[in-house]
Amino acid sequence: TFFFLSSQIGDKWQPFDLSCFCVPKHYENDLEQVLIPHGIIQDRIERLARDIFQELGQGPLTALCVLKGGYKFFSDLMDKINQLNCNQGQKSIPVSIDFIRLKSYENDQSSGLIKIVGSDNLSSLKGRNVLIVEDIIDTGRTMKKLLNTLQQYEPKSVRVASLLVKRREDNNGDVCYMPEYAGFIVPDKFLVGYALDFNEYFRDLNHICVISQAGMKKYRK
Ligand code: 5GP
Repeated sequence: TFFFLSSQIGDKWQPFDLSCFCVPKHYENDLEQVLIPHGIIQDRIERLARDIFQELGQGPLTALCVLKGGYKFFSDLMDKINQLNCNQGQKSIPVSIDFIRLKSYENDQSSGLIKIVGSDNLSSLKGRNVLIVEDIIDTGRTMKKLLNTLQQYEPKSVRVASLLVKRREDNNGDVCYMPEYAGFIVPDKFLVGYALDFNEYFRDLNHICVISQAGMKKYRK
């Protein structure tokens, strides 16, 4: 059985004023607050890497990055798992990586499946321990569909690491889906930065921030 390892950013959490941190000048008016500074993200990922490493059984791991939003979390998490792999004498686990992008089936929403694009042949997942690495889980629909779709490749095990999991106001303020590894449980706000985007903007921002009304307006398509 798993512990649900998570760190709550409660509704009373005081986000940081923008003026306390360095943000790119081109985003200064587009952000409300810094919710999670880059350094805290790194510290939390260090611990997630340790938890993941310790709970992995024997046998090789395939880490599956969900692009584009997951790329920074993936990269930092893999660096930290690799460090453990080098430094933990008794135990080491071969790790391979793959990258996927997801597209919903437009004409067949009821199938509960999702189209996976841009990966190697996923039949290589057969018999492997798979770790899905995602940026944020909101309603959980995307993740449930992805898990459903991956089953056809017969992996040995599948676990999910998501940096952020949202509490939803329309779900009594609870999360809809809890992955095995969650970085931060966050309030029901639209978050950007650390590879999370709004119409492809803000991926070049280090901290996880709350977008401002002005930012929404400026980058809305
Ligand atoms: P779900 O299927 O869980 O409702 O949605 C998951 C996807 O919605 C994420 O992979 C992400 O692309 C997008 N998403 C949900 N909430 C946010 C958010 O606060 N900020 C950003 N940038 N994307 C979000």
